[in-house]
Amino acid sequence: MDERTLVDGHGRRITYVRISVTDRCNLRCVYCMPEDQKFRPLPHLLTREEISRTARLLASLGVTKVRITGGEPTTRPDLVGIVSDLRDIGFPGGIALSTNGVLFPRMAHELLAAGLTKVNLSLDSAEAEHFRKMARRDHFEPVLKAIDLALALPFDSVKINAVVIRGMNDDQILPLAAMTFAKDLSVRFIEFMPFGNNDWKDADFVSWEETRDRLLAAGYELTPITRTFVAGPADEYTVRSPLGEHRGSLGFITPISDRFCDTCNRMRVTQDGFLKGCLFGHRDVDLLSPMRQGATDEELLSLVRRAAEVKEERHPMFVGMEKRLLPLHARNMSEIGG
Ligand code: SAM
Ligand code: SF4
Repeated sequence: MDERTLVDGHGRRITYVRISVTDRCNLRCVYCMPEDQKFRPLPHLLTREEISRTARLLASLGVTKVRITGGEPTTRPDLVGIVSDLRDIGFPGGIALSTNGVLFPRMAHELLAAGLTKVNLSLDSAEAEHFRKMARRDHFEPVLKAIDLALALPFDSVKINAVVIRGMNDDQILPLAAMTFAKDLSVRFIEFMPFGNNDWKDADFVSWEETRDRLLAAGYELTPITRTFVAGPADEYTVRSPLGEHRGSLGFITPISDRFCDTCNRMRVTQDGFLKGCLFGHRDVDLLSPMRQGATDEELLSLVRRAAEVKEERHPMFVGMEKRLLPLHARNMSEIGG
């Protein structure tokens, strides 16, 4: 095997890593964390230097694209520094940020100057009241401002992610899709996933097919854009609707319908330094403890290879399975790094 590539136990090449830089957040999205979420003590989180070292080791094994996520990454005071470290390491596939957008406008220019290339913002509703219900906070207006600012700055892409939950925001599918008419945005609908104690039920679940069918029933025409696997597991479509030709696009992220495991190219680093093969997997490999105990780069690289070797083949979850039978991770999405 080429020394500079990372291949998992199922022959898939790993080229994309998502690094969670914090478990903290200034929202409390109902699907992600409870109101009284307990956070890890700060010394348990990766430091900027540890993030940079981990990223450098992964880049040396052929990881070309990195995403910074959390929790909410913008709550970390050294976020701009982390981005500039990643730029110095070199990720030709881009440096992306997942954010809820609330604090983004305060640092958007600095993040751009530091080397951030792509921004994904979470927005589950196109109006304030639904937003408050989903996020348990009144920050709708700042998030809209963040979206407009991100679009006004020369980022390579600006995407919106919306988790769809029946009875909660499924009536927002059309208003969210309509945002792509005038704005050069990609809006992606995410299937609701069960985690920790987010009280997921079959009845809440809206499949990507149902979301698509609701759009089609409203007169939307969706034309697939060639799928680039390095871009992640969202099928993207250009859009025509009764409004006319849309400037932006629509996409579906389908973790439950399991349409992308075969081509999975990603691993995750949790904010407490575990390398994780699969979002729903349990075979995490601790990098932080060895790092703090003085492990050499060679020792860490062999741990990274081991984590890839044991990466699960596919998500162990299917709709129709009772939740109590699902092999759930005790961590919720903010603790894994979404
Ligand atoms: N705080 C940032 C944000 O909200 O974009 C980054 C972290 S968040 C955990 C990353 C993504 O995970 C968001 O798009 C969020 O909607 C998604 N997410 C969290 N919990 C989820 C769940 N139970 N099912 C589906 N997506 C989820
Ligand atoms: Fe925070 Fe993002 Fe989780 Fe919402 S989805 S609670 S914004 S980490």
